[in-house]
Amino acid sequence: MDAALRLIEQQAAPLAAIATPLEEALGLCLAADAVSNVDSPPHDKAMMDGYAVIGDEPLSELAVIEEVVAGAVPTLAVAAGQATRIMTGAPIPPGAEAVIPVEQTELRDADTVRLTSPAPPAGKHVMRRGEVFERGAVVLTSGTPIGPAQLALLAETGNATPAVIPTPTVGVLATGDELVGADQTPAAGQIRNSNGPMLHALVRQAGARLLPLGVARDNAESLAERITAGATADVLVLSGGVSAGKRDLAPGILAELGARQVFHKVSVKPGKPLWFGVWRHADGRQTLVFGLPGNPVSGFVCFHLFVRPALRRLAGGEFAGLPRVAVTLDQAVTVKGDRRTYLPAAVALDPAGSRRARPVAWRGSADLLGLAAAAALLDLPAERSPYAAGDRVEALLLTPAGVA
Ligand code: AMP
Ligand code: MG
Repeated sequence: MDAALRLIEQQAAPLAAIATPLEEALGLCLAADAVSNVDSPPHDKAMMDGYAVIGDEPLSELAVIEEVVAGAVPTLAVAAGQATRIMTGAPIPPGAEAVIPVEQTELRDADTVRLTSPAPPAGKHVMRRGEVFERGAVVLTSGTPIGPAQLALLAETGNATPAVIPTPTVGVLATGDELVGADQTPAAGQIRNSNGPMLHALVRQAGARLLPLGVARDNAESLAERITAGATADVLVLSGGVSAGKRDLAPGILAELGARQVFHKVSVKPGKPLWFGVWRHADGRQTLVFGLPGNPVSGFVCFHLFVRPALRRLAGGEFAGLPRVAVTLDQAVTVKGDRRTYLPAAVALDPAGSRRARPVAWRGSADLLGLAAAAALLDLPAERSPYAAGDRVEALLLTPAGVA
């Protein structure tokens, strides 16, 4: 499995950078350092609503000479015995060194204010120009994921169209003669296409752009036509058709279309039939192709283990998958065979706040009822089996809290 991940990582380079409007940058990674074109704050500024004064004054009564609201500029210098009424964020007038909060004053008349506490020392409630950062400073480094706080900083610093790595586009194609839609009644031998909606959701959850390619039937024409429709995508995810069955035609068709196989089959459970290849196009672009096993749980696990890290890397992030935590097994588990096994599990916090995991009752790779009850995938190397209740093992968290 580690070898498979390395082979995928070698092919997954970040997409070419683009400039994007700030409003569309949420969730993307910066493709260059972001530099400020302003000092922050841009002027010495009041941190409180109150009165700007020279500071350290023995006086208890001051003459109010002016009022400055945010957005305005003071016109008069403040001298001893004087004060300028000032609002939070407004520029400090020349001569002033401190702000007396309005709560520590009372108005004698419109032009005179009396201090109810000792006058503040110079510097109090004033933030100096450039105190947070100066013009020309790097405020965010290349590769940083853009969240709401980073967006705000980009806006403050004049980075209205930052260079970012764009969102990868992922084509999703389900394959199978037996598939009908969720809104249809399966006839004898048919089943509903659950992988299509599942993979669409996984792509969206990964923050990637979805290119739905529908269902290909198990014949060369249908597969070639639907796969070709996915050539514009950065990643193509196929469900089914990659095992060793008579109708598993996908690897052959992919090769005919010019996709180069990097590997086929991984020693992991579920997910053994996984196919991975690179499809280079005439225009120099490339599409990473993942042929996932058709069994729904296998496809789900393979997406998280192999596709998700690649998507993050293409988007400029790290080649990393689900968060990994230690859990304590609530019951004994035996891994049969020699493949590293990922087992859907429910997770609960014990009174001490540590995670306890219990494999969900499930009946193998097609059991969506079990998968739907899971909050984590237990990562169980075969060579450590059998596992006893109380053993500490690693788990990949499917939900942000990892408890369900
Ligand atoms: P395959 O890898 O195509 O041989 O499929 C393996 C198993 O997964 C078969 O039982 C298929 O019927 C089932 N399967 C394949 N595709 C889907 C799908 N889109 N939704 C649900 N089950 C599927
Ligand atoms: Mg099939």
